[in-house]
Amino acid sequence: MKNQFPRFRDFLIIMLFFVVFSIPLSLLQPIIPSNWFILLNYVIPMVLTIYVTRKFFNKKGKFNFSPKYLDLMPLIIVLSYAFLIVGEFTVFLLPKPTGFFKELFDMLNETLEVIFKNKILGFLMVAVAAPILEEILFRGIILKSLLKKYHPWKAILYSSIAFGIFHLNPWQFLYAMVLGVLLGYMYWKTHSLFYPIFIHFLLNGTAFLMAQLVDVKPNEGFVDYWTHNLSQYYVLVALALLIIIISYFILEKYFSKNTKVLILATQNPHKIQEIKKILPSYIRLKMLNDLGFKGKLKETGQTLEENAKQKMRQIAVPYDVDVIADDTGLEVEALNGLPGVFSARYDGENASYQQNVDKLLKEMQGVSNRNAKFRTVIAVSYGNKEYLLEGEIKGKIAEEPRGSYGFGYDSVFIPETYTQTFAELKPEIKNKISHRSKALKKLKELFDKL
Ligand code: IMP
Repeated sequence: MKNQFPRFRDFLIIMLFFVVFSIPLSLLQPIIPSNWFILLNYVIPMVLTIYVTRKFFNKKGKFNFSPKYLDLMPLIIVLSYAFLIVGEFTVFLLPKPTGFFKELFDMLNETLEVIFKNKILGFLMVAVAAPILEEILFRGIILKSLLKKYHPWKAILYSSIAFGIFHLNPWQFLYAMVLGVLLGYMYWKTHSLFYPIFIHFLLNGTAFLMAQLVDVKPNEGFVDYWTHNLSQYYVLVALALLIIIISYFILEKYFSKNTKVLILATQNPHKIQEIKKILPSYIRLKMLNDLGFKGKLKETGQTLEENAKQKMRQIAVPYDVDVIADDTGLEVEALNGLPGVFSARYDGENASYQQNVDKLLKEMQGVSNRNAKFRTVIAVSYGNKEYLLEGEIKGKIAEEPRGSYGFGYDSVFIPETYTQTFAELKPEIKNKISHRSKALKKLKELFDKL
């Protein structure tokens, strides 16, 4: 988990990609008009950075752009401007740049002025390219991966810091970090890039427009322009903070209606870990302990389906809650589907994982047909309706146990198209292809439909 993308090191590599991709273009600077150069020298390295980041770190990541909660738009617009005011206030608190920082500041402003001066190219870069490309990288790839690894607020904070650092100067660092919190929060809650892109577009577009209309110097904020008197400015900032706090409670309430809380009816800590990692974050799992359930779940059915339903109903009926329960079995062709529903107790009622694996290998000694499959059945009780979902993965039984990841029969199961056992493959890979992840994908589809 600790080594899972994105580590701080990976972020530095991403920054390096961006810098390296800028170099060949810089050589062309003398022959390209300066405003075109600035646009191209941002867009091309950024597109390449996104491309290689996906290739190296995030192969199967998909981007979602769906505008699902359009009724929130008015609130989002007000909230975005409140963040703009607070973001600028943090910059205003910085000491006025002197020495080296003054030079950096002036250089940055000169570059921005060139961009802002050109109406079409400037708008394309500031209000179109930057929002789309930066949101894809910082929210769609980096934050999305961080959310799988950390608590959402920690993930949002880390992605905001990365977003800040990416701007490579203290003024935009602070501003981008503050905005990163809003952009990250909206991405976390909506799972869609539509909102962060829209907010980014709105704020960058506004800055661009203001620069055209009232000749406010970019990067200096509108503090001086808006107020000639600081106490007015503080009232404005306080008002913005108040809007942020109130909006937060409204949004939390709004989104809690869209978050599904499910009880996971299992007492297997390995399964809990796997399921938590695979499920999307709008499904909040609670454990049996949270309900105060202390007994042992019975599983006396003759099939995986019966067992899954039995486990689910033991919780859904008495507690009147929404529940998912999974039952999994390893079905070996040469053993007529055994251990199957008896997988947990193949070598006797309280057999350990090791004892069950030993028994399986003994039964399979000298058997040439080693075809097998893992099958998971998930029973769902949601809104007093029941659903059954299934996922399976075909593979072969290894000659001897290999690997140390996972649990149960992982060390002797080689999934189709791989040569390693599940216990040799990294958990991220198992979680992408496993019987359980396929069943959970169907669960996600079911909720999307509902
Ligand atoms: P359960 O009845 O669904 O809890 O699972 C039965 C048994 O199947 C467990 O005790 C494990 O030995 C095995 N099992 C379930 N899921 C997996 C898996 O993902 N990998 C390896 N073994 C598993």
